[in-house]
Formats: sequence, structure tokens, C-alpha cells
Amino acid sequence: MANKVWVYVDQFKGQALPASWEVVYAGRKLADQMGAGLTALAIGSGLDELARTAIEYGADQVLLADDPSLADYRANAYAAALAQAVGEDVPDVFLFPTSTRGREIAGMAAIDLNTGVLVDVTEMKLDGDKLTAVRPVYAGKLLTEVVCDAKPQLVTLRARAFDKPVADAGRSGEVTKVPAAMAEDDVKVKVTGYQEAEGGVSLTDASVIVSGGRGTSNNSMEPPVEITDESEVEIWKAQQGFKLVGELASVLGAAVGASRAAVDAGYIPYSHQVGQTGKVVSPDLYIAAGISGAIQHLAGMRSSKVIVAINKDPDAPIFKYARFGVVGDLYQILPPLTEAMKERLGK
Ligand code: FAD
Repeated sequence: MANKVWVYVDQFKGQALPASWEVVYAGRKLADQMGAGLTALAIGSGLDELARTAIEYGADQVLLADDPSLADYRANAYAAALAQAVGEDVPDVFLFPTSTRGREIAGMAAIDLNTGVLVDVTEMKLDGDKLTAVRPVYAGKLLTEVVCDAKPQLVTLRARAFDKPVADAGRSGEVTKVPAAMAEDDVKVKVTGYQEAEGGVSLTDASVIVSGGRGTSNNSMEPPVEITDESEVEIWKAQQGFKLVGELASVLGAAVGASRAAVDAGYIPYSHQVGQTGKVVSPDLYIAAGISGAIQHLAGMRSSKVIVAINKDPDAPIFKYARFGVVGDLYQILPPLTEAMKERLGK
């Protein structure tokens, strides 16, 4: 009998996203509750090692659409491979990570499989084979329960909202190769190359994030004489603040985040933006320096386990959500905090 629970393993160049393993592990638990088997589907090229790891995290069967034409993620080719792999025998539940690719391919799969998709889910409850998913709405102010009346019930899981996956090297499972569904000539998008983003820890996977906001530009430092343009002066000033943010992040092994105000003003690239129109994160520790706590920023980080806010203004809204608040100038607070952390962590 076909497995009732499927999971999608999102990968890049054969390396699964850590969030994919959380999804496999969550899928395993769901399959156990349903007394069912778990199928993991991965699409790409050179996926043998990934298949082995998927079994260790809980898959009974791994389907690999493993083909050189699938080496690069291209939504149409991947969605076609997915629909073909599912075929007629649709699972009850199909889980995806809420990554950029995961969201996209789940949306396309919902169209191909004539079903719905429940996005960015933080909890799942099972009644028979019917799933009730919990997801934050209105910038995390409310939790809503949603169901999907068609099958498969497609669900994307928020990274770090479910149990940390535990691998069992002793598990065994079956690996089956499935063909690509589109001929190369029919795939209209060609990937011409990749450019590495600035190094550092991925925001979505980070267990600690240190973020900076517009407050980083608020200091009385004098820029080098050649910087005279007002907006360049502001950016230069903010960069001094982001250096402090980066130093603390580096000591803590953390990712660097930012508010939209900081991104829009050109202090730091968009890839660092946390919030409604940036990344949604759930780290164990979120340190916000010079960020007011606008609703759109909170939408991206309020599910963090511990929030620490550093802000000059005692009435800044962020303090309402912070477990620990420091009222003060980030330029005064961050350097000694970094030193103290270095000492504490023996770095
Ligand atoms: P501000 O609100 O200007 O706050 C700066 C803070 O720094 C102040 O509280 C100030 O007291 C403090 N400060 C100043 N100097 C210092 C200092 N030296 N030391 C310590 N503290 C200091 N925002 C996001 O962040 N992410 C999003 O994804 C996002 N999406 C949006 C989508 C829409 C549709 C809209 C309309 C807005 C969105 N915004 C988003 C923008 C959001 O509304 C706020 O404008 C933004 O979050 C403010 O950023 P900030 O807190 O850095 O700046």
C-alpha cells in the first residue's frame, strides 16, 4: 500500500536544508500516529547521500528524481517531477519546509494536484487522517486553526517550530529512482550561474540572531573626509553599528538580522531583513539593537524563544515583547556585552 505521509526534501547542490530534516522527522511522527509509512521525495542531481540521511531521519522510502537536468532548481521542472512522482495514488498528507523553494513548489503542487496548501504551520493535530494545522496570522498576534478539505493535504512547516530531528544510523529504507518529467528543451528557464551571498549563518536556520535597526546610524562619529553626501554619511555611521552587531553575532555563532528601515536605507542587504516582507525566524535567542518593534518587524521574530532588546527609548514597543530589555545606547551596550560573552564562552 502506498505511504500516506510524504515529505519534500528541499536541497541545493545535493545538500538538504536543515529545515528539510525537521520536516522528515515531523513526518515520521505523523506517520507513526497514523500507523502509516513515510515517503521522502527529493528532486535534484547527485542525491544518493541525501537519500541515506533521509532514511536516518525517518523515511521508509525515498523517491529520487535524480537527473542532471534537475541539478538547478527550476520551478516548472521540479513541480512536474513532483506531480509525476505522486501519480494517481495521492498521499493523505504531504509536508514541505517553509523555505522559498518549499513555498513555491508546494503552491505549484496544489494546482497540479487540485488541492490546497496550508502555509507556515507551527503545530499539527491529527484526527484520523485529517489534519488541523495551526499557523500564526496578523503578524503573529493570533493563532489560527486551518484544515484542507482535499487530498493530499499540503502543509509547509515553519523552520525550528518542530522538534529537533534525531538521526538513527541503524534505520533502513528503500531508495527508488523516478525519472524527470520534462525534457530539457521544454524547461524555459536556464540557470546561468550563482553568486554567493555574503557569508555567515543562514537566518532561517540560526538558533541565535543579532539584529540591527535604524538606531545603528545614531552616533556622533565622524566619517572619513571623502564621505560628504548626507545619505552616505548615514550609511557609514550605520555600518559602524552593524560592525558591533556583527562582532556580537560572531562570538555567539549567530546570524545577523536587520529591520526593513535599515535595509531600505542601504545599511545592509535585503537578505538580512527580518519581518513581514523579510524572513520569518524562530531562534532560541533574538537580540534586537536599535529596533523599535514595529508590527511588521514583530511579524518576523515574535515567535523567538527569548527576545533581548537594546534601545535608547524606554517606551519603544519592542520592550513589550522582550524577556530582557536594556534601555541605553547600543554603542555603549554592545561592546561590553560582546566582551562579556567572549569571556563567558572562552573565546
Ligand atoms: P525605527 O522605527 O526608526 O526605530 C529605531 C529605533 O532605534 C528607535 O526605537 C530608537 O529609539 C532606537 N535608537 C535610536 N538610536 C539608538 C541607539 N544609539 N541605541 C539604541 N537604540 C537607538 N519592517 C521590518 O523590520 N521588517 C519587515 O519585513 C517590514 N515589512 C513592512 C511591510 C510593510 C507593508 C510596511 C508598511 C512596513 C514594513 N516594515 C517592515 C517597516 C516597519 O513598519 C518599520 O518602519 C521598521 O520596522 C522600523 O525599523 P526600525 O525599528 O529599525 O526603525
